Amino acid sequence: MNTDVYVSITPMAEPAPGCTAELERLGDEIAELSAHLDAATARLLELIREFDARAGWNTGFRSCAEWLSWRVGLDRGAARERVRVARALAVLPRLAQALARGELSYAKVRALTRVATPDTEERLLAVGRAGTAEHVERIVRGWRRVDRLAEAQETARRHKSRALHVYQDEDGMVVIRGRLAPEVGAVVIQALTAAREALYHKAHAQNVPAGTSGADVSTEPPTMPQQQADALALVAETALHHGIDPGAPGERYQVVVHVDAPVLADADAPGQSVLDDGAHVSAETSQRLACDASRVVMRHDPDGRILEVGARTRTIPPALRRALHHRDRGCRFPGCGLRFGQGHHIRHWAHGGPTTLSNLALLCRRHHRAVHEEGYQVERQPDGELRFRRPDGRPLPESPPLPAVPSDPVGMLRARHEECGLDVHARTAMPGWLGERLDVGWAIDVLHPLAATHGRGTPASRAH
Ligand SMILES: [Zn+2]
Ligand SMILES: [Zn+2]
Repeated sequence: MNTDVYVSITPMAEPAPGCTAELERLGDEIAELSAHLDAATARLLELIREFDARAGWNTGFRSCAEWLSWRVGLDRGAARERVRVARALAVLPRLAQALARGELSYAKVRALTRVATPDTEERLLAVGRAGTAEHVERIVRGWRRVDRLAEAQETARRHKSRALHVYQDEDGMVVIRGRLAPEVGAVVIQALTAAREALYHKAHAQNVPAGTSGADVSTEPPTMPQQQADALALVAETALHHGIDPGAPGERYQVVVHVDAPVLADADAPGQSVLDDGAHVSAETSQRLACDASRVVMRHDPDGRILEVGARTRTIPPALRRALHHRDRGCRFPGCGLRFGQGHHIRHWAHGGPTTLSNLALLCRRHHRAVHEEGYQVERQPDGELRFRRPDGRPLPESPPLPAVPSDPVGMLRARHEECGLDVHARTAMPGWLGERLDVGWAIDVLHPLAATHGRGTPASRAH
């Protein structure tokens, strides 16, 4: 097969004599307007920071970035970055002011906030002022390498210090003392909690002293440390019994809710919803848990004895679930789109709603809670589209209309900046760079507080 390649060469455009002055003016106008936009961005970030801090986005959205993406149409990554920079600038007043005066571009500030701390802000601001955006980017990358090196060394040091000492005391008791990595410690704590609950809550419910054999007639309830000791024994016995097999993630944790049938259909109906250990959950919560879950139907007689146990059924069969994922592609709540979700019955199966594609909508865990427990409503309209409403009944559109913009937004920006006494001109954001070569390694050695101690050699040895 032949492939023809056409190469077109665009000659360098040489401005005709006489145009030069005009083009210079055009260039100045671009530079000036850019500085105005950066100054306005500083204001925008301030507003975002306040909105974020006061949780103005917490009206059904999972984060400030998600709200921004929904409200002003930013892509997800850009929205997250705005929120990150807005938060970072809260403790970096010098960088914030340089942006607000139009002296430092948003691109430079964005890069610098990835590494700046109140201690290093001053030095990094000097980097931002002196260098081009590309220099700043390269210095920030070098800076992060040093930060990461320091962090990796710290993590390695902590990991190295992990230990578990088991020894026998003089009186024959076994003493255990240890240091575990945080994530390992979390698993151990969870296991101890589960074991303690298994030993003591069940026993409490049956009113029998637990963790003890029948021979032990002590009536004093065990203290927390005593309960922990019994729990550890149960964890060890269980581990040995199961051949030390962690099992599949899905089997590790299961919630069982006992719920009276009328409550599933009507949250106000008399009846109860309780977890296995006796803890009560709200009727709304049990409706959500039942909305997309394996369930076992048990019938009880008035005294609570089980009369009949139905088959364990999965309310949404696998083929239907695949179709649901294929159709919805993620959470359908406006502005969300999270890929993993649960099948929500628009009309609950306890109300006779069928488990069919048209009665199902994919919702993430956060938004499944929003519709069951926080009063948000969703309905399918005759044309098949979903319509969400806020708890007060106002509609929640897929994406809201953008506000009208004045006919001369640039003039408005200029006027507002003049009003604040801001003097922005074509050279406001000009770097101090005069064309010399940038030695990133040397710059980091001189600037980064940890650089000298992390194997680069002292600044003095490389300065020339
Ligand atoms: Zn649901
Ligand atoms: Zn969602």
